[in-house]
Amino acid sequence: MSLFDKCGRFTRAREVQAAGIYPYFQPISATTANRVTIEGRELVMAGSNNYLGLTDHPRVKEAANDAVNRFGSGCTGSRFLNGTLDLHVDLEERLARFADKEAALTMSTGFQTNLGTISTLVAREDVILCDRENHASIIDGCRLSFGNMRKYRHNDMDELEGLLQREPPDRGKLIIVDGVFSMRGDLANIPRIVELAREYGANVIVDDAHGVGVMGEHGRGTAEHYGLNDEVDLVIGTFSKSFASLGGFVAGPEEVIHYIKHHARALIFSASITPASAAAALAALDVIEAEPERRARLWEVVAKMKTAFDSMGFDTDASDSPVIPLRVGSDIDTFRFWRALFDNGVFTNPVISPAVPPGEGLIRTSYMATHTDEDLDRVIEVVGNVGREFGLIS
Ligand code: PMP
Repeated sequence: MSLFDKCGRFTRAREVQAAGIYPYFQPISATTANRVTIEGRELVMAGSNNYLGLTDHPRVKEAANDAVNRFGSGCTGSRFLNGTLDLHVDLEERLARFADKEAALTMSTGFQTNLGTISTLVAREDVILCDRENHASIIDGCRLSFGNMRKYRHNDMDELEGLLQREPPDRGKLIIVDGVFSMRGDLANIPRIVELAREYGANVIVDDAHGVGVMGEHGRGTAEHYGLNDEVDLVIGTFSKSFASLGGFVAGPEEVIHYIKHHARALIFSASITPASAAAALAALDVIEAEPERRARLWEVVAKMKTAFDSMGFDTDASDSPVIPLRVGSDIDTFRFWRALFDNGVFTNPVISPAVPPGEGLIRTSYMATHTDEDLDRVIEVVGNVGREFGLIS
């Protein structure tokens, strides 16, 4: 009996590869954000998290290049010791102001930010109330903490209240949710969550990976969208989406950020964000603050696509963001649908169980401020044709 026996028994991916509909690890050989080249063919990118299209912005690219020239290619150490650059400190000060919180702390990815923040703050005697569809990094952060995790059905506020009622009043409680849920593109019910948090004495963390830069008047995120930025204790964000880079951050009260800074193992025992990534995130933040018209254009794009898909008869679920799912059905149909879109020049992402319940496979499409009407019309045409071919719409 070897630990590796299960690897030989894992045949699912190879079967999908043999069927020619394997969608993962597709190597992109060139990209301009909206368009990607794969196997020598150009596709419209309708499956990225680059919501503002800033990976291709001249100012962002120039900032990354300048940082390499100034600091070299890496920091070769943790923020705690030799890996703090003035760039990291500037970025944190700017992020705190952007998020309208007292302080902010960056970590090397959004995934690590969830691991570090949750496991640091939640102690053995505490309880975490967690939406079943929260991102994997939230779930793993909860597992890594010594507290007890209680999951409630997606956005089911009655079940959340029931769980809160069962806990002793003096027990530390954390409610943690995605602001924008990454697969279906729907929003957390933050108004009810903050009400319940107040009533039952819980703290609230919103992981707004898909909301920062996109939601709310200033792009602060989903809490701002609801006018509740002050009611959320900590906001977690990532640089791997609207910020066009790599890294993560948590923003909140100075005392809490100070504590995380001195206790989070995911921060202390991991090298800091590279100079190029930190500078790119900082430049993206400049653009996010200086050019709100990009956010306005993104919402125009989203309205166009949602209206087009809904009017064709697709099931786009409860999407209220630049993530627009198209419900397909079985895993195999989802892969086939994905492949047909791919063959017709549209890059999307298939989502199958266990990320969604079995039989509820979907194609996750997502949009950018920089998509042109030509890009979007192409996506609408291809999705419509393939949808009819698969009998999903008439
Ligand atoms: N939280 C959510 C909700 C996410 O969607 C993601 C990325 N898919 C992360 C956290 C992790 O962020 P990163 O890519 O920066 O590790």
